[in-house]
Amino acid sequence: SSFDLINFSKSVIEEIEGIKKDGQIISLIHQQPKIDIYLDSKLLKHILFNLVSNAIKYSEENKAITFKIQATEQHVIIEITDQGIGIPKEDLDSMFQRFYRANNTTNIQGTGLGLNIVKQYTELMGGSITFKSELNVGSTFFIEFPLNIEK
Ligand code: ATP
Ligand code: MG
Repeated sequence: SSFDLINFSKSVIEEIEGIKKDGQIISLIHQQPKIDIYLDSKLLKHILFNLVSNAIKYSEENKAITFKIQATEQHVIIEITDQGIGIPKEDLDSMFQRFYRANNTTNIQGTGLGLNIVKQYTELMGGSITFKSELNVGSTFFIEFPLNIEK
């Protein structure tokens, strides 16, 4: 069934409060008061949790994280931006491979599965994922889903 993406995102951000580092503030930015979306809420929650927890994990205390939602008639784009360690250029093409971890994460725990799962779940629901990242500056992950699908 369909649900409101704005409210849904608010609750995801609230739930993730517990794993934030000191001073990390997650700002939700959106223009529309409500966006009806027809997706599997469990899969979407998993996707958002993974991306926001990466933003937390790969950035330091007091660094801002933004969660931006932009919708047009046809699409919604969710952007999760951090001011963290970024991804080295030589690792950019491998980020979605299972078990892949960039070479600047040696002292940060992880299995390298999160993004692979995020990509599979996103594509399973007709969406797409991209990202941009600069080493020691930060990263933004973009997920896009079509809107107004026949219900
Ligand atoms: P887990 O399976 O527990 O999520 P992980 O975080 O290492 O482990 P992914 O979420 O798949 O695995 O991410 C893969 C790799 O991509 C990470 O190891 C890290 O090198 C890089 N990465 C992902 N998100 C970010 C980010 N926001 N900033 C910097 N590097 C990131
Ligand atoms: Mg991860």
